[in-house]
Amino acid sequence: MKKTIYLDNAATTQVDPRVVSRMMPHLYERFGNASSKTHAYGWNAEEAIELAREETAALIGCAPSEIVWTSGATEANNLALQGALRKAGCGHALSVASEHASVLEPLRALQREGFELTLLEVGANGLLDMQRFAAALRPDTVLASVMWVNNETGAIQDIEQLAAICRAHGALLHVDAAQAVGKLQIDLARMPIDLLSLSAHKIHGPQGIGALYVRDGVAERLAPQLLGGGQQGGLRAGTLPLHQIVGLGEALRLAHRSMAQDNDRVRWLRERLWGGLAQLDGVFLNGDAEHCIPHTLNLGFGGIDAAALIERLAPQLALSSGSACASTHLEPSHVLRAMGRSDAQARSSLRLSLGRYTTAEDIDAAIALIAGALSALRVAHAPAAGDEDCPMKRLRRRGNRAGAELSVTK
Ligand code: PMP
Repeated sequence: MKKTIYLDNAATTQVDPRVVSRMMPHLYERFGNASSKTHAYGWNAEEAIELAREETAALIGCAPSEIVWTSGATEANNLALQGALRKAGCGHALSVASEHASVLEPLRALQREGFELTLLEVGANGLLDMQRFAAALRPDTVLASVMWVNNETGAIQDIEQLAAICRAHGALLHVDAAQAVGKLQIDLARMPIDLLSLSAHKIHGPQGIGALYVRDGVAERLAPQLLGGGQQGGLRAGTLPLHQIVGLGEALRLAHRSMAQDNDRVRWLRERLWGGLAQLDGVFLNGDAEHCIPHTLNLGFGGIDAAALIERLAPQLALSSGSACASTHLEPSHVLRAMGRSDAQARSSLRLSLGRYTTAEDIDAAIALIAGALSALRVAHAPAAGDEDCPMKRLRRRGNRAGAELSVTK
């Protein structure tokens, strides 16, 4: 069976076999609970976790004691935001309308509890205006939260400048770096970021593991979200997932070792992809070609329903849009809307995201497949307004029936 080409690396990535090799022994002979202090299984587990902690810390320029393991970036974001505001008891949070749901939803929940929230819009390039950001900080701002790299457009915010503004103001800065770690150089020793979330599965590591960097002295300003056995200084209880943590450490080590070459190769592939697709009728780029990681290309196809395009391509090509199908209709991407795109433009947009295993053959095949699907859709009739059975719903149903249709074997 022909494989489905995978261009959805911003959603998740295939685990690198070298990461799997590092993880495997910890599922068998070198398993153990790092909290077990009475035998070698526990001591070995603790040693492996501390090694991963040291490696992770060294790669992002912090101290090992500043790493808190979590189940992923979602939990890290929740711990940072709910933790800081709940500990403060009252006050204001500043964030951005184009953040990931795992930042927006905790902030909205806190707003319902009585905390105040400002969400800033971004420019057409997806970037924040520094003056507007500085002006939105208030005397009672407890924390600002800004993602380093946007998951839908790849836009890179100027975190260095934001960190300096927050430090001068005295507000904590939380950065969701789920899409930045392993792709950009991050040196926390040089940048006054207080809290930073990361996730392994965006960089060819396992799903279900991430970390929150908590600057020395900031832990006292966080209320724990998970209570239990007092692990991780009481900030996040729960048995540490040994093999997952080892996998995160190795994925990060590999990403850093080959970051420059990987980025160059992926940039070359993205240019090839954009070169091929830019020729097509009505194509437009969402975001900024310059302030963008090379892995992501967000494109609109004027007059086309992106969900229908994705549906038509799904057997051969795995991609996504920022849109999700609500129970009865398709919601346009909140990220593209925050950039000033119209509902129609947002609905015609999709995200192509590349990774370590994307090849030039994948790109060439994707260009041909997209061009073919576009012409077919342009001759077909658009679905009637209010169509109950939208493409996203059909795709979901198909997904529920069969992961069986997939054979992503690379
Ligand atoms: N933030 C961003 C920017 C992301 O892209 C993601 C993953 N889609 C998350 C947070 C959530 O990460 P995780 O899957 O590790 O919970």
